[in-house]
Amino acid sequence: MSSPLTCDSLWSGATFVTLRAGQYHAIEDGALAVLRGKILWIGPKAEMPEIHAAEHHRFAGGIVLPGFIDCHTHLVFGGDRSAEFEKRLNGVSYAQIAAEGGGIISTVKATRAASEDELLASARRRLNHLLAEGVTSLEIKSGYGLDIDNEIKMLRVIRRLGEQEPVEVYATCLAAHAIPPEFSGDGDGWIEVVCNQLLPRVAQEKLADAVDAFCEHLAFSPAQTERVFTAARELGLPVKLHAEQLSPLAGSSLAAGFDALSADHLEYATEADARAMAESGTVAVLLPGAFYLLREKQHPPVAAFRQHGVPMAVASDANPGTSTALSLRLMLNMACTLFGLTPEEALAGVTIHAARALGIQASHGSLETGKIANFVHWPVARPAELVYWLGGQLPCTVIYQGERRESSL
Ligand SMILES: [Zn+2]
Repeated sequence: MSSPLTCDSLWSGATFVTLRAGQYHAIEDGALAVLRGKILWIGPKAEMPEIHAAEHHRFAGGIVLPGFIDCHTHLVFGGDRSAEFEKRLNGVSYAQIAAEGGGIISTVKATRAASEDELLASARRRLNHLLAEGVTSLEIKSGYGLDIDNEIKMLRVIRRLGEQEPVEVYATCLAAHAIPPEFSGDGDGWIEVVCNQLLPRVAQEKLADAVDAFCEHLAFSPAQTERVFTAARELGLPVKLHAEQLSPLAGSSLAAGFDALSADHLEYATEADARAMAESGTVAVLLPGAFYLLREKQHPPVAAFRQHGVPMAVASDANPGTSTALSLRLMLNMACTLFGLTPEEALAGVTIHAARALGIQASHGSLETGKIANFVHWPVARPAELVYWLGGQLPCTVIYQGERRESSL
């Protein structure tokens, strides 16, 4: 006779929506057992084997989903650009604002001037909004330091956030975000510093989990991006790319050629890009917040991504200039209303496909035996409700690595 299983906690009394293989896969009247921070068993309560639980938590209805994963953010930065936002709406032109030192360079100045502790404190305030909405993992990029010391400073802050806050943080080095003021007119010069000095140090100090670049006319060319990717590959770091946001440069195909984890934005991606991404398993990360705030007209080719089987993720792109989004649920709604995703696709986009965009799909993103026990109970009747409401707070219960997490808001 086999002895009964034992677990640290058992959770039941709700519908468990697993998102396995990117689908709802709802288990009505389900149960989920947690042992040492991982899912030991999940299924219909009626089919549960004998399990001795140290604690049994019973929900009174509602649904349980995997913890949300925000796979593209720029959450660490100095200052903010609300004054610039207001100026623009009062009719001041972009050119005038840029001439006055506005735009991304103003964030670079404020980030350089801020201490690690100041950057940590301001990022934590923004992070708390995401956590209150059920985010259990997120990615944060550097890219506002734009010199060696300040890029390292940003990456240290990102690592400290992950150590101090109850959330898994993945750090991405985005030193190829914009041309630093010191290298004005010499993008190649900065790329050389990034490839030969910064990235080797980042790799040696294990300060980043991936390397990213901004491939666009106003940032870096495909040839410069390729140099960054080659350097990253030699250091054993996976890559991702800001691609096809404002114009078609085939950056996403280039990224696919380097087996990139993801290509992000993609409003101008083509059918050929979609095919290349499908072949390499590169995730299409859709960022409706930036599309909205920049009042873009060109939509990402969602139909081509579907047709070729490119997994689609949805993220906040939280940043001080082009996507001041502190709500992943709002992004879910926008991904559906602006880009035409179904609620099921959108929810897969902040769970299992977002996990793939970070290379953690084997352990995260769906409710399956053996995966990390990051899940959230929502007081709603069906998953689509999380996508349906525009704003408003839905109080949720977050279980992070098997333990209930209190909200810091
Ligand atoms: Zn971005």
